[in-house]
Amino acid sequence: MNLTDTHCHLDLENFDPDRLAVLERAAQAGVVHILIPGLNLSSSRSAVKLAESHPMLSAAIGIHPTEAATWNESSSDELLSLFSSPIGRGVRDEGKIVAIGEIGLDYYWNAATRELQKNILRLQLDLAARLGLPVILHMRESRDAQDEHCAGDLLHILEIWIAGLQLANDPLAQRPGVLHSFSGSLEAARRFISLGFNLGVTGPVTFKNAHARQAIVATLPLDHILLETDAPFQTPHPYRGKRNEPSYVRLIADKIALLHACTIEEVAAVTSENAKRLFVWKETA
Ligand SMILES: [Zn+2]
Repeated sequence: MNLTDTHCHLDLENFDPDRLAVLERAAQAGVVHILIPGLNLSSSRSAVKLAESHPMLSAAIGIHPTEAATWNESSSDELLSLFSSPIGRGVRDEGKIVAIGEIGLDYYWNAATRELQKNILRLQLDLAARLGLPVILHMRESRDAQDEHCAGDLLHILEIWIAGLQLANDPLAQRPGVLHSFSGSLEAARRFISLGFNLGVTGPVTFKNAHARQAIVATLPLDHILLETDAPFQTPHPYRGKRNEPSYVRLIADKIALLHACTIEEVAAVTSENAKRLFVWKETA
């Protein structure tokens, strides 16, 4: 079985004591590929370094909306130079820097004004288009989540971005990216999919009381789903409360198989193929 964890923060210090053992357990569980997204400039650098160190790993680079305070005038150039630096280029030749992310909007923590978050997002979408890389998108609604303002604003910005790509006949319009850890409504899911985005499914889908989320995931087309642990966060059942790790991606695949009335092997194969199509990386197994 070939599983892919398309969102794992393996660079975080939670994994300092046993990073190699974590990778070995992942391989044992059938994981063939892990994507490490950046959260800010230094974590993007760490993600790239890690990706270079192991055949199973790829990296994304970007500034997360809760890290908006770290953004400055030179951030775009610094991401660009990370991408084109000898280490970045070397990594790139092996297809190791595969996306810009994670970027997006976060109306829950409000680390910056909504206007500033939108500007930083647009600048990084420009960067993605310039480098021909898909994006990994973070979206979190405010505490009174029902209004879906965050989804609405994000969709609006993405519609303009995609329209620009289409106008320029940019092939990136066919593989624009993934909405990480999707937890929105079915209506929002449909709109993201119609723009060409994949939806990332994370551990909370396995929680016993997650009926609404499970009902939505059950109706999502398998060929638009990516598996993501978001480790060390969002640990699936039955390890909830403990540190998450990429080997647990199997539990998410298992739940999706149940919801879609198919086998876990099928879920693994289709979602790994989706990831390969989006991030265009080489086979590692
Ligand atoms: Zn993340």
